[in-house]
Amino acid sequence: MSTEALVSIDLQGKLKRIASGKVRDVFEIDDETLLFVASDRISAYDVIMKNGIPQKGALLTAMSANWFTYLSTHLPSLRTHIISFALPASLTTSLPQETVAQLAPRSMLVRRHTIYPLESIVRGYITGSAWAEYTKSQTVHGIPLPAGLREGDKFPEPLWTPSTKAEQGDKDENISPARAVEIVGQAAAYKIRDLSLTIYKLAAERALAAGIVLADTKFEFGAAEDGSGEVVLVDEVLTPDSSRFWPREGWEANLGKAQPSFDKQFLRDWLVGEGLKGREGVEVPQEVVSRTAEKYRQAYEMITGEKWV
Ligand code: ATP
Ligand code: MG
Repeated sequence: MSTEALVSIDLQGKLKRIASGKVRDVFEIDDETLLFVASDRISAYDVIMKNGIPQKGALLTAMSANWFTYLSTHLPSLRTHIISFALPASLTTSLPQETVAQLAPRSMLVRRHTIYPLESIVRGYITGSAWAEYTKSQTVHGIPLPAGLREGDKFPEPLWTPSTKAEQGDKDENISPARAVEIVGQAAAYKIRDLSLTIYKLAAERALAAGIVLADTKFEFGAAEDGSGEVVLVDEVLTPDSSRFWPREGWEANLGKAQPSFDKQFLRDWLVGEGLKGREGVEVPQEVVSRTAEKYRQAYEMITGEKWV
């Protein structure tokens, strides 16, 4: 695999690109099938850096794949959008070998679903926007909580704290569970809530045993293609892009302060130190790139128990 970071994905017009996020590009295979491709782009404080982290896209795809497999094994009734972690033959034969080699380890072939317009967030620990709200009103997404929580504290029980799913470029807005029911209807909202909490608990237990606190995470769900009213887990899952991973070691000592993020801490610290926080088009120096890559690799190896090669 190339040691250079892949920040833009070129399928030479072979497939229609239907979305390009901060990290991933989504292509249309046909009406029912999408190709999800994770680039090596990295963002911090909502801005994408000029250069990427080599192999990050492959690593995050492998981590997501590992989680999908784990979840399906432990929750046999769970429905997901995954068709395959291999590229379709139509692509491997029509694209140059070099492109295929770049694409294969960073792609997932998925069923296209109508997505519920909610970010289904589960929080086990208080931080980020939830901490900010709590300090003002002792609530989190409108849910009243006991007094005396410190930043980084574990909630007595994980909370389902949905947000809206904003159009690209706009900011998602935290909402109450009641508001989520209004948006997607009670039947879907309750299914999404219950599944999200079940998945979070299962994942947080696995991560903790591996030395990682899964502070919070975000899922997305789609409507089942058979019209049964069931909900299907879509998107990528349980990677540092959709979740907060903290080292278990030191969590307690850091209560009351921001916890170090497993993946992007070096990058964030460097940006802040250089006065570059929020600046567009920043070129990250090699030293910060390799230390960040090392953190992603460590997270992958701790969670999956497999060596990253
Ligand atoms: P960012 O994550 O950078 O903030 P984003 O969420 O808009 O931006 P991506 O996460 O890169 O962008 O894109 C994934 C998009 O694909 C999301 O809009 C998600 O809702 C959608 N999606 C995920 N799975 C499916 C699926 N199975 N069918 C249809 N759309 C899907
Ligand atoms: Mg996304």
